[in-house]
Amino acid sequence: MVVPPDVEQPAAAPLAAVWTALASVCDPEIPVLSVLDLGIVRSVEECAGTVTVTITPTYSGCPAVKVIEAGILAAVEALGITGCRIQTRLAPAWTTEWMSAAGRAKLNAYGIAPPAQQVIDISGLGRRAVPPDVTCPRCGSRHTQVISQFGSTACKALYRCQDCREPFDYFKCH
Ligand SMILES: [Zn+2]
Repeated sequence: MVVPPDVEQPAAAPLAAVWTALASVCDPEIPVLSVLDLGIVRSVEECAGTVTVTITPTYSGCPAVKVIEAGILAAVEALGITGCRIQTRLAPAWTTEWMSAAGRAKLNAYGIAPPAQQVIDISGLGRRAVPPDVTCPRCGSRHTQVISQFGSTACKALYRCQDCREPFDYFKCH
């Protein structure tokens, strides 16, 4: 590539710009959430002109992962960075606790109850299966009941609010 002499070349790829660009890469299943909201981007590194974005997919084998990877590559290339690669890190596994507070708020506004904070029983034998405290995204009621453990996708459960009677998806913790 011939670079005009009056164009200053940055010494290193602007990583802050990469992070900003990643904020526009959305999850194809829940388009209000960016990959940063989900917390799946673990690191962005630059070495000898190559930008490496390390991601931990939410669900391995999820077809959305390929779409997300293509979205990340396109967003980074749009910055004029041609050397970008995506590295997948499977351990430690992604957990809903990595979802940002902004992401939880967006999810709720979208009509999906965000994952409840993990309830950990420290009195006895560690984690115990405590039913999550799921709040209705429409009216805020905590009087909700599970209708089905599988909502519109495997990562969601279907709930109904006992106050406003509306069914809604709950993004399951894991
Ligand atoms: Zn409600």
